[in-house]
Amino acid sequence: MKILELKNVTYQYKNSNEKVLSLVNQSFESGKFYAIIGKSGAGKSTLLSLLAGLDTPRSGQIVFKEQDIAKNGYSYHRKHNISLVFQNYNLIDYLSPLENLKLVNPDATKESLLELGLDETQINRNVLKLSGGQQQRVAVARALVSKAPIILADEPTGNLDKDTATEIIDILKDIAKQKGKCVIVVTHSNEVADAADIVLELKNKQLVPVKNKGDH
Ligand code: ADP
Ligand code: ADP
Repeated sequence: MKILELKNVTYQYKNSNEKVLSLVNQSFESGKFYAIIGKSGAGKSTLLSLLAGLDTPRSGQIVFKEQDIAKNGYSYHRKHNISLVFQNYNLIDYLSPLENLKLVNPDATKESLLELGLDETQINRNVLKLSGGQQQRVAVARALVSKAPIILADEPTGNLDKDTATEIIDILKDIAKQKGKCVIVVTHSNEVADAADIVLELKNKQLVPVKNKGDH
């Protein structure tokens, strides 16, 4: 099911005389894992900000379930439709993992953390006492328990060693497949691109499809 769409989106920074994105069209479906790749400066972070409703296109629309997100407002989009996973985890550092989850969903239980491979002692520790990989599991669990149907991740494996990165990628892949969320990851990592159902490259201000596992 199509959940998020870019329609003729252009973007230009106010202090710049050149567009960063030009007439970008793309739709994203529930249950699929997307990787957005591209050289440094290609516009990946800019695109992620637009998809997250943190910034607004110069022209064109970002459409959530057939409705321009401008209609309900960008703040509504950020709060209800999107959950974010960052390279540096962005957890609330004086709280435990479960308390971090309860901030986005008061009904969250420790099972969601156990399911992602954390153990009982880790769950009750202050998040700062956890390793990077464990903190990223908490951040992914937070995105999972939030009711948002779309997970946007910015280099989620950027600070992790290879084995831990593989585990986090597998978890994100599972979240798309088992939980039906739309997972969109901006990344430099070939490993993320290899795992993704669909790979899109930002190139010459456009989004170009480079892989679609559904194609034969
Ligand atoms: P990527 O994430 O692919 O490295 P970005 O989206 O960060 O690319 O940047 C895309 C282009 O926009 C680059 O040319 C960058 O220099 C420019 N840019 C990024 N942020 C700003 C800003 N705040 N003001 C002006 N130009 C910017
Ligand atoms: P506001 O409605 O005041 O704009 P939000 O409640 O939408 O603020 O979110 C504030 C910030 O918190 C967002 O920019 C987002 O980066 C972050 N945030 C919200 N929910 C999550 C989440 N589930 N995971 C990670 N970060 C989140």
